[in-house]
Parts: sequence; structure tokens; C-alpha cells
Amino acid sequence: MIDCLRKIDLADFTTLRLGGKADYFCYVDNDQKFDKIITYCEKNDISYIILGAGSNVLFSDKGLRGCVLKLSGSFRNVSVQENIVKAGAGALISEVVGRAKENGLKGLECMFGIPGTIGGAVHMNAGTKWGTVGERVRRVKTKGRDFFEVTKEMFRYRKGIEDLILGVEFILEKSDEKEIENTILQIKKFRIDRFPRNSRTAGCIFKNPPNGPPAGKLIEQAGWKGKIVKNVLISDRHANYFIPLRNAKSSDFIESVAMVKEDVFKKLSFSLETEIKIFDENGKYKYV
Ligand SMILES: Cc1cc2nc3c(=O)[nH]c(=O)nc-3n(C[C@H](O)[C@H](O)[C@H](O)COP(=O)(O)OP(=O)(O)OC[C@H]3O[C@@H](n4cnc5c(N)ncnc54)[C@H](O)[C@@H]3O)c2cc1C
Repeated sequence: MIDCLRKIDLADFTTLRLGGKADYFCYVDNDQKFDKIITYCEKNDISYIILGAGSNVLFSDKGLRGCVLKLSGSFRNVSVQENIVKAGAGALISEVVGRAKENGLKGLECMFGIPGTIGGAVHMNAGTKWGTVGERVRRVKTKGRDFFEVTKEMFRYRKGIEDLILGVEFILEKSDEKEIENTILQIKKFRIDRFPRNSRTAGCIFKNPPNGPPAGKLIEQAGWKGKIVKNVLISDRHANYFIPLRNAKSSDFIESVAMVKEDVFKKLSFSLETEIKIFDENGKYKYV
């Protein structure tokens, strides 16, 4: 048997605060425990996923018939040697950005203000207009594979390493701490001016289409900014942010996403793709 919690409310572990219960929920604090749980799940045909800080996911109202792994303990360690920052996949982005800055290392400022863990960021290739995390990753450690070199081709727009990520090494550049601080202040101001604050969101719901205006502008042009659809508010500050209202369910959220997507296509002929990861009950990605 594995040391896991049972019937845990996934809503408590996501920024949208939506979704039902997971059958199993395990805090995994070291490699041995990780291997043991994976082996148990595979032997017993139990599906499993890693959940980071839950800032880009939506679970079904029916929850998850499987096991959620939450990296803790040694998977949250961060160390710095020369211009290399090594982080466990469960470390918070904010901590890694802070440690790089303190050590006068430039290259991860673009990640300032993005909630989440390093594993989630490298899986999503998270970033901003200042750059993406993938540009700074040198090596990753994944399930069953010790640290290996990555290539640029492994990262695309909001698509990074697909395996279960356990650790990441970043290669950064020596710089002046003041210069790093200035870039961070610029990014901070940009984020404060542009994005809704203190709301229940998962950041941008849709990816920006490759050739065209940003998704938020398209949603706005289609007339959805500030509207309420199925118990979900389309933010009046940034139309690509969707905020569930009281009593909203995960199914309402999915319906609102589908309705906006369909309408943007009908009115503007752009086919939006979701950026958030929507999980079905079996732990598989669902595409709206
Ligand atoms: C207010 C707000 C602002 C945001 N702004 C931005 C932004 O500017 N830019 C941007 O890119 N994103 C942004 N996001 C989205 C989100 O913060 C990022 O995608 C972040 O990288 C997700 O990390 P997480 O740990 O929360 O991942 P989760 O949401 O927990 O998971 C996301 C996906 O990654 C997978 N995953 C998590 N950990 C691992 C792992 N160790 N190995 C393999 N897969 C893993 C999960 O299974 C899931 O499929 C924002 C979100 C919010 C709420």
C-alpha cells in the first residue's frame, strides 16, 4: 500500500478553486518515494499526474479517478553554483527568480510574477513578452531519467517538456543585481497595470493565435469583455482572464470557455486554443 491521502478536494489546490475530489493525493518528498508510488500505480492500473501550484489547471466536477502527486521536501530545494541554478520541480517560480537575483544572475526575470512551480513552468514553457523559461533551461531530470541536456526544439509556445519533471537546471548570466532589479520593476508595473489582481483566475485561458491579435483582444472584439457567461465573469481588465463567480462549477467554466471560443470563430474566424490544462476524470487532457 502507498502512503496517500484519500478523497481530497482538488478545488483547494487550484487557483480557480474548482473541481471535485481525487481518489488519491500523495505528497512526494524524495526520489525513493516517487519511484515507489509510480510503481504501485502502474502495477495497480491507477492513473497519476503531477500537480504543481494549480495555477493553470481545471479539474472536472467529478474529480479524478487516479492519483495526484504533489512534490514537496527535497523536490523544493534550490541551489546556486557559479551561473547555474538548480531547482527541484516543486520549487516555486518566485523563489527561483529571487535566488537568481540575489546571486546577481540574469535570465529569469521574465518569469517574475508568474505563479506556480518550476515543474509546471517547464511543462508549460511559461513566460511573458520578456522571454520564456525554456530559453534558460540547460538540463532536466524526469521520471526514470537523470539530468539530461535539453534542446531548443523541445520548447515551443506554451509547450515544454512533456514527461514528469523532477528537477531543472538553469544556465544564467552574471550581471549587476541593480540591473536585474530594474527589469523586475518594469515587469511588475506592466503586470499591475494590465492584469486583474486578487481574483480567482488561472491567468490567460487561451493561447495567443500565431498570426493575429492576442486572444484577449479577439475576445474583446467579439464583445465578451466584462460579460458574465454561465456564472463566469470575463474580466473587464483583460478579456483572456475568466473569473468563476460564487457557485460556479467546473462544468460552467468549461461551457463559458467553449461558448467564447465558438463565438470568436464565428465572428472573427480565429480558432482559439486553450492554454489552461483541463483534466478529465481519468487524468487525461481534455480539449475544448
Ligand atoms: C494570476 C495568474 C497569472 C499568470 N500569468 C502567467 C504568465 O504571465 N505567463 C504564463 O506563461 N503563465 C501564466 N499563468 C499560468 C501559470 O502560472 C503557469 O502556467 C505556471 O507555469 C503553472 O505552474 P503550476 O505549478 O501552477 O502548474 P499547474 O497549474 O499545477 O499544472 C499545469 C500543468 O503542468 C503539469 N505539471 C505541473 N508540474 C509538473 C511536473 N513537475 N512535471 C510535469 N508536469 C507538471 C500539470 O500536470 C498540468 O498539466 C498565470 C496564472 C495565474 C493564476
